[in-house]
Amino acid sequence: DYQGLFDRFQRRLDECTEDVNIFLRMGVMPWHDGLEPVQLFDRARAACNMTRSGRHSRLVVFNEEMRTKEILEQRLLNDLKYAIENKEFLVYFQPKYNVQVDPPVIGSAEALVRWKHHELGMIPPGDFISLFEKSSQIGILDRYVWAETARYIAQWKEKYGKVIPISVNLSRIDIFDPDLEKTIEGIVEETGIGRENLHLEVTESAYTEGEEQILEVIRCFRSKGYHIEMDDFGTGYSSLNMLSRMSIDVLKLDRSFIKDIKGEDDDSKDVQMVELILDIARSLKLVVVAEGVETKEQMEFLKKRGCDLIQGFYFSKPLPADEFEEKAIKD
Ligand code: C2E
Ligand code: CA
Ligand code: CA
Ligand code: CA
Repeated sequence: DYQGLFDRFQRRLDECTEDVNIFLRMGVMPWHDGLEPVQLFDRARAACNMTRSGRHSRLVVFNEEMRTKEILEQRLLNDLKYAIENKEFLVYFQPKYNVQVDPPVIGSAEALVRWKHHELGMIPPGDFISLFEKSSQIGILDRYVWAETARYIAQWKEKYGKVIPISVNLSRIDIFDPDLEKTIEGIVEETGIGRENLHLEVTESAYTEGEEQILEVIRCFRSKGYHIEMDDFGTGYSSLNMLSRMSIDVLKLDRSFIKDIKGEDDDSKDVQMVELILDIARSLKLVVVAEGVETKEQMEFLKKRGCDLIQGFYFSKPLPADEFEEKAIKD
């Protein structure tokens, strides 16, 4: 009776008079004739791995799909170093349009990685980023993406004498890497692109109330001249208090606020939220980027309300480097 065991444990926790935070994760493999103990254990562990996402205690019973998934994930983890050496990771660029000028112009862009796997074909970041984060190997990939991005900026600067600042994504794990500063400074110095041209995106959920270390790292980069963009704003838990203390330049409004907006006459909660956030951002003197803008109506609503930059399929999907060069740099 696994569930009973689990419930009993939960009740014991409920009875505690002190505040303790314990998340219980349990993977269960029912007894199966013909399987060795180590095979049973492997399956229970696979089930336990499935409980990782989410903030609550969970119990998961094994099924065969989990093993397939685990085998695939293991495969991707094993292939990481090979893929970097063989240039299987491609950096795409999605333009951010400045809509406060007429006609809109590309003001900056975001670097987004794709994996062209030698056997599995194109893999979107959603399938491997969190995997590399869980195994703490994301830094290896991110460093590569940052260096590639800087290399492109330098190359285009040399070829056309023109620079468009590009932002790269930093995972929470990257921020705690003691070599982070050295790595990024090294990349910028080697390519000579200038710190102001490599923007750093950190997701809102990476900041946790009371965690001074992250704020300190961000503050340090900012004081050196890097622009900091707070990614996926509205999906984390940062309070207004924290927002005002935080050292950032750009606020990226998450797609979830934008995706259901029909137009300016829409009086939905999303519209009200977006207006509110734009007001707050303005009083804090932050630049606002709206993410995931797909329609003309959304674009016009945001433009009218003073949103600075727009990133989304309405203007452009993330593009391979040569297409981005054609569209954004060459003219
Ligand atoms: P993100 O940083 O929030 O990036 C924006 C995502 O929204 C991208 O997905 C982009 O293709 C997608 N997007 C942009 N405009 C639209 C739109 O109009 N509609 C819709 N439906 N989607 C839009 P992508 O490229 O699949 O990346 C997913 C996530 O993976 C990123 O979310 C980011 O968190 C992560 N990621 C991507 N590249 C890297 C990287 O090099 N390092 C790290 N650490 N994470 C990365
Ligand atoms: Ca991002
Ligand atoms: Ca985002
Ligand atoms: Ca996102």
